[in-house]
Amino acid sequence: MAKIRILPDALASQVAAGEVVERPAAVVRELVENSLDAGATHVEVHVQRGGTALIKIVDNGTGMDREDAMLCLERHATSKIRTKEDLAAISTFGFRGEALPSIASVSRFRLATRQAAALSGTEIEINGGKISDVRDYGGAIGTVIEVRSLFFNVPARRKFLRAETTEYAHVEQQFRLHAIANSQTAFTLTREGQVMYHLPAATNVLERIRGLVGDELGDRLIPVEREERRGITVHGFIGGPGQSRTGKQTQITFLNGRPIESPSIHYGLREGYHTALMKGQYPVTFLFIEMDPHAFDINVHPAKKEARFHDGNAVREAVALAVNQALTRSTRIPEGHRTAASPSPAFSLPLPVTVTPPRYSRPPDHAQTLLPIPAHEQRALRHDWADEKSTEPLHAPARQSTLPSPIHPPVSQPESKDFPTPLSPPQPVETPKNKADNFRIIGVLNTLYVLMEGEDGLVLMDQHAAHERVMFERLRASLEQDGVPSQRLLIPLTLQVTPREADLLQRNLEPLSRLGIEAQPFGPNVFKVDALPTFLKTDDPLDWLNQVIEELSALSAKSSSLRLGEDMIASTACRHAVKANDVLSMPELRALLVDMFTCEMPYCCPHGRPTLIQISYAELEKKFGRRAP
Ligand code: ADP
Ligand code: MG
Repeated sequence: MAKIRILPDALASQVAAGEVVERPAAVVRELVENSLDAGATHVEVHVQRGGTALIKIVDNGTGMDREDAMLCLERHATSKIRTKEDLAAISTFGFRGEALPSIASVSRFRLATRQAAALSGTEIEINGGKISDVRDYGGAIGTVIEVRSLFFNVPARRKFLRAETTEYAHVEQQFRLHAIANSQTAFTLTREGQVMYHLPAATNVLERIRGLVGDELGDRLIPVEREERRGITVHGFIGGPGQSRTGKQTQITFLNGRPIESPSIHYGLREGYHTALMKGQYPVTFLFIEMDPHAFDINVHPAKKEARFHDGNAVREAVALAVNQALTRSTRIPEGHRTAASPSPAFSLPLPVTVTPPRYSRPPDHAQTLLPIPAHEQRALRHDWADEKSTEPLHAPARQSTLPSPIHPPVSQPESKDFPTPLSPPQPVETPKNKADNFRIIGVLNTLYVLMEGEDGLVLMDQHAAHERVMFERLRASLEQDGVPSQRLLIPLTLQVTPREADLLQRNLEPLSRLGIEAQPFGPNVFKVDALPTFLKTDDPLDWLNQVIEELSALSAKSSSLRLGEDMIASTACRHAVKANDVLSMPELRALLVDMFTCEMPYCCPHGRPTLIQISYAELEKKFGRRAP
């Protein structure tokens, strides 16, 4: 006897519901998408008990006539695509015709809808997938959908719902995504009847973002100018260096207006932020990516949260470049303080602002790979150091004048003759337009924080972080020019790799050799390594090489040759930079400041911690009660 049976429709819908609407936030996503697809300019979202008791969406979109209202509850009934060709280039949010029947099959559902021209509309009630009533509807033009008692008839799914506050947090996050992606649409969110957000139609995205996150964060965002690279346009707003979060809720990216997550975008962001992001942290981004809908597939995830790009590397690179450019262009000093009076009371979701205070910390011990300070420079450094160690009074004149050479660290490393070329020549200190001129050094706090008077208030510089940045960029420049000296191994190492890694290595032999690694193919998926960087200090060179390969594979094709080895440089910079407790003289401090502002990315150290933070006059006035908070 045949065992295969076609599922009854109601059961099939419940099964589909498990995938499409896994939790209240997903119901909100689907229903708001429908409202937007229907051209609504105003969408209200109401939830009770995290959406488990009630989700109600009210829109002023086109509405449906009676026939469509009945049809939309059938599986695979959609007005949005007709042919296979349409599927390849989807421009609406919905396209599967699955959401409404799925939601209606697992809830007590009410649909009320009315078109502009119609004398009366239609109201339909459905209980766990069964139509219980159809009648005329005399309400406003548009559509109202109520979803009560979600999963009341599917106990297995109901069990998986989390605490109401958690479900609500997800609903709110979903609401924000919609609100940011559709800034011209007015949105309202209520929770237990209380208005959480009331967002009038905005004229631009930043206005909408401010409405959601408050002015404080809004003020600190850096614009990413709209630019197209190989058919991919990237624009939006991002947090600056040192501005990061522990959770990824604020790493928000849109693809053609649809909130999306994708490894290509994720890695593009990491690469773009690079040293401006602390390890293990997520950036704050509101980034819009636009491209030909034929160039990706959105139909890979039931929740439509993921996209598959035909050319993921191009996306990654476009994102990385856009972010990097925005960051290097930006000249904003991170605010060191967060006002107690947060502007938007609704901005309380699980997104703790962590503009991490600068804190001196030793590099992790495993980060002992190093680059040398060239011998001749070490000598020069010591010389400078000895000359300037004089402790000058710290209340120096407002415009500190020249110093022959920039600040250098006291280096205790043995001299090395192996590093062939000098670092880039020291910058002249008195560059007329150096931003350092905008600061007056007041003194040093705790032999670490350099206190300065800036244009907008008190500015603190972390001397270690600042010097790390300076050293990092110099070492990197010299490495890019001259490469790292390497040492032949007595017994070459054999490196077993996967086919993918073999391909990666093969394509990067040249940059690797600049990094001091001489490798050659030695049979299928085997490489012979004859030489390693002279200054590599490790007991396990194979493990180190594997780390390098990992680093390689995390980088996109274009940037790999430049970026490779930066971790090594960063940890070297960290080891050799002036430390907390190193007493610097006033001219040294001045020179450090000047050097820092000649850097490409002066506002953070190579590990993403800030080098400067500011406490503005406004902030001080509030603190001293001179101004209402
Ligand atoms: P999809 O969005 O994939 O087409 P849905 O099940 O979400 O599938 O919706 C089915 C159809 O119902 C839509 O194609 C649309 O024609 C209609 N519809 C759903 N919601 C609304 C709404 N708020 N306003 C007008 N029409 C709607
Ligand atoms: Mg839909």
